[in-house]
Amino acid sequence: MKKIGILGGMSPESTAQYYLSITREYTKRFSDYSFPEIVIYSVLFQEHIDFIKNDDWDAVAKSLQKPIECLENAEVDFICLATNTTHFILDKLKKFTKVPFLSIIESTVEEIKKENCSKVGLLGTAFTMKSDLYKKPLMENEVDVIVPSVKDQEFIHRAIFTELANHQFKESTKKRFLSIIEYLVAQGSEGIILGCTEIPLIVDANDMKIPLFNTLKIHSVKALEFALN
Ligand code: GLU
Repeated sequence: MKKIGILGGMSPESTAQYYLSITREYTKRFSDYSFPEIVIYSVLFQEHIDFIKNDDWDAVAKSLQKPIECLENAEVDFICLATNTTHFILDKLKKFTKVPFLSIIESTVEEIKKENCSKVGLLGTAFTMKSDLYKKPLMENEVDVIVPSVKDQEFIHRAIFTELANHQFKESTKKRFLSIIEYLVAQGSEGIILGCTEIPLIVDANDMKIPLFNTLKIHSVKALEFALN
């Protein structure tokens, strides 16, 4: 059984869910507590946010070098970067270690392919919605990606950092998320990527009739399966 490394704390709210998701999923499947060992490195979240706000991706990469080396020294067999946004610099991070990364983006794209969607809506941080992070791999698989209006993107981004990462779950925010999703469905989305690990904390699969791709759940379950193989 492999030892799982989680590079997390981006935010602590979602990283805590990774831990619970992996361990609970194991016990649900096998009815005992022999889940894999897990090492979590929780990074300096404020510093991380500040670097991203300044679009200083070299500083983000540099700040993650020591945490990655610590996970390597803790003898993890692979690393989950517990956030979508920072996957933008995954190639840079890979240079710091020989330990493989399990990508949240690749894991989610695999699930979308299984559902045979030809068009999906994407929610995430402003960066994730504007970048090619999901668009590129999905377009390569002939899946179109649409995003909310600029105003809604700003709302989502603000809610992630000021409410969800701060353990605030307002009914009004949930309603706005659901109406943004409805808009994306009306534009032809056959599924919605919850492309930020805080969004599943307020929106869940039971809220909609179409598939919601919960990136936190997908990534943590893949981590469990990878650890067991
Ligand atoms: N957890 C968030 C994500 O999945 C964003 C926080 C961060 O900036 O890393 O994209």
